[in-house]
Amino acid sequence: MADLSAMDIYQELPQTDCGDCNFPTCMAFAMQLASKQVSLDECPHVTEEAEEALSASSAPPMRIVTVGNGNSEVEVGGETVQFRHEEKFYRPPGIGITVRDGRDRDRLNERVERVNQLQFERVGEEIGVDMITVENSQLPPSEFGELVAEVNDISELPLIILSSDPESIEHALKEVSDGRPLIGKANGENWRKMAELSEKYECPLTVAGEGLEELADLTERISETGVEEMILAPDCESLPNYLQTLTEIRRLAVKEKYSPLGYPVMASTVSDDLFQLVADGTNHVLKFASILTLDTVKKWQILPILTVRQHIYIDPQVQNSVEAKLYEVGDPGPDSPVLFTTNFQLTYYSLEGEVEDGGFSAYITVMDTDGLGVLNSYADDRLSGEGIAETIREQGAMDLVNHDKIIIPGLVAMLRISIQEEGDWEVLVGPEDAASLPRFLRKEWEE
Ligand code: SF4
Repeated sequence: MADLSAMDIYQELPQTDCGDCNFPTCMAFAMQLASKQVSLDECPHVTEEAEEALSASSAPPMRIVTVGNGNSEVEVGGETVQFRHEEKFYRPPGIGITVRDGRDRDRLNERVERVNQLQFERVGEEIGVDMITVENSQLPPSEFGELVAEVNDISELPLIILSSDPESIEHALKEVSDGRPLIGKANGENWRKMAELSEKYECPLTVAGEGLEELADLTERISETGVEEMILAPDCESLPNYLQTLTEIRRLAVKEKYSPLGYPVMASTVSDDLFQLVADGTNHVLKFASILTLDTVKKWQILPILTVRQHIYIDPQVQNSVEAKLYEVGDPGPDSPVLFTTNFQLTYYSLEGEVEDGGFSAYITVMDTDGLGVLNSYADDRLSGEGIAETIREQGAMDLVNHDKIIIPGLVAMLRISIQEEGDWEVLVGPEDAASLPRFLRKEWEE
């Protein structure tokens, strides 16, 4: 059945705007349904006829699966396109750090503590790892269950609990099922027992298989037992193998609407090389992991992967901008520098971060350029001496200081004279990149 428009869907809904679906109106719900971001069963008032008319076209090509609950829950999947330029990617991959049960208990606990620290602030957003993967390879079932309980006590992050032995999984679930962990991996041998555990404890299930046929066969069998929330975990031995397999799964799910593979996918890094781990991780974020497990707690390895995730999971059709206004960074006073920039989010937060990290306080006057960076704004004819002077005057930065110096980005050094003439201030040309600002301020401002 062809995809229906929001209006087609709306015609089939009760049109009472009761709000029981957590959307204020039936039209709002219809729009989400048309973009396959909700499922029809979230409206409890759909008639049988409407359900028949809508269910085929409104089913998301890839299921949305939730791991954990409460504030730290991670929702993955629900993607509708293969390439980001077609629309956007909706749910960033959850990143989980692996701890193995073979480690000495003190070292293991210390590792979990370090995982808790893997949270960062970047361009105004909190980014960090989302989950802990506890892997069973050595401990017997009851001891593994105790270990999982201990990890759960130390960290609030949702758990991924992996063992080939269903008994070990059950011991762990008896301790932590309230937290709705992701369990697995179900395979050709243990899938019945794993599916029972998934049903009994209401936890999502990871399904492993060597090829796409085996994976599809397993998900079909498991779904017949009533388990709906599954994560595919294809067995891949190398990065090229992962790339090929995950690309094929995404294509079959969203283009061919092949429901046995219409689930989020879990990937892990396979190389022992420190740098290759970063390359593998970023590759999986780009193509097409929904959950990524990493065997490292090193910040220098994790931060690049989080940064790539942050950049890819924004809406390419929406400019990322900050409000155009005068910002105070630190505790600025009459002697503090005044900086000018545009309202591209990355530009502003890079500048703010460098001012703070350099130990300075400053005023930053931010011009509305529809979210364009400095050079793009200039190329697009949005920056002129007159416009910049008007912004500085309107925002009143120069009324707060006892000097007449304004620092502009080095990328628009050519506007220095015209700003100076328009504003009657002394215009200093700053560095071209934010990273050089602390050195510039120490030299040009403090001396
Ligand atoms: S629950 Fe159903 S009837 Fe109520 S607002 Fe949502 S879509 Fe409309």
